[in-house]
Amino acid sequence: MTALQKKEHNPIAHLTREDIESLGNELDAVRASVIEARGASDAAYIRRVIKTQRTLEMASRAVLLFSKSKPAFVAGTIGLTVSKVLENMEIGHNVMHGQWDWMRDPKIHSTTWEWDNASPADLWKHSHNELHHTYTNVLGRDNDLGYGIMRVDEDQPWIPFYLGQPAWNFVNACFFEYGIAAYDLELGKYFAGRKDKAIFKRDMTKVVNKIREQATKDYVVHPALAALTGSGRRTLLANFTANLGRNLWTHSVIMCGHFPEGVETFTKTSIKGETRGDWYLRQMIGSANIHGSKAMHIATGNLSFQIEHHLFPDLPSNRYQEIAPQVQDICERYGLQYTSGSLPRQVASAWSKVIRLSLPNHIAAKVKRPSRRTPIVPTALPSRLAAAEKRAA
Ligand SMILES: [Zn+2]
Repeated sequence: MTALQKKEHNPIAHLTREDIESLGNELDAVRASVIEARGASDAAYIRRVIKTQRTLEMASRAVLLFSKSKPAFVAGTIGLTVSKVLENMEIGHNVMHGQWDWMRDPKIHSTTWEWDNASPADLWKHSHNELHHTYTNVLGRDNDLGYGIMRVDEDQPWIPFYLGQPAWNFVNACFFEYGIAAYDLELGKYFAGRKDKAIFKRDMTKVVNKIREQATKDYVVHPALAALTGSGRRTLLANFTANLGRNLWTHSVIMCGHFPEGVETFTKTSIKGETRGDWYLRQMIGSANIHGSKAMHIATGNLSFQIEHHLFPDLPSNRYQEIAPQVQDICERYGLQYTSGSLPRQVASAWSKVIRLSLPNHIAAKVKRPSRRTPIVPTALPSRLAAAEKRAA
């Protein structure tokens, strides 16, 4: 893990091979315990969330038919924003991860689900499930890391283009679903001549069709229906606001998952020959959590438990909160950072990193950085426990 080895305090230098494999076994056991326990109450949970979201969406769209009245406009817009957030986060992202495939319900299955987003499900599943979750925080392999338009690590060479990255990031946040569609298309790879033209053309057709469907629904059909009561323009504005609100929210949640200070990045060569234990280790120190209320966890799709999600992307999201203390305990015993903070703190931390790294390293070094964390002392490292036992014998 060279990106780590270059740092003054390599956060994993104290771990032996034996420790890393033991860490992997402990995490496998946590995963097995959830798989064994999942059942009817979990199935009831996701069905309840889907029903709530659909009811809220229908009610909000009905209210917006009368959005000529200001209270109806406000209530309908808030309701539609919340429903879109739920649809993308707690439902779409998690269903398409296959978290609920074990229910064998063809209607709530990763192979059949399509979501309310500019990016078609199959393209998103490839770039998110296969690329982002496999190559988490590996520079040059994980598109989520800076989305190909930002510098996210001191080791990345600086070019003047990065001076604008706070602006690129803000524009990307406002139109995030289109940003996702663009990088699911692997535009960078295509322009660099590394993506097959026929495949790119096929994917582009899918994206254009999906954007057209979405725009027809939000910006043509519903405003046209509302026009019958003189509420067409307000409905158009409400749909635009709901999409904007959802984009800003999802972008913030996702930034908090891998951008805040304390989260590590890795180089391509560092993952060669990676074992399951190494993979778990990278997911743990390459992700960060957000703490807050139950409602906030649901609104983030339980991605507020990003560390647990990255360790176990296919476990039902409603179980992450329950296993978080076990994961945190493992981090403490192995002397690893378990990065977590409130939503405002993590958002501010991620943005300050985006701003700091927009500058060349020699100038960025002068910018005050959030206080450096002191190295964490492991409380019960397997290799040290074994050595102590040997000495006592
Ligand atoms: Zn995910």
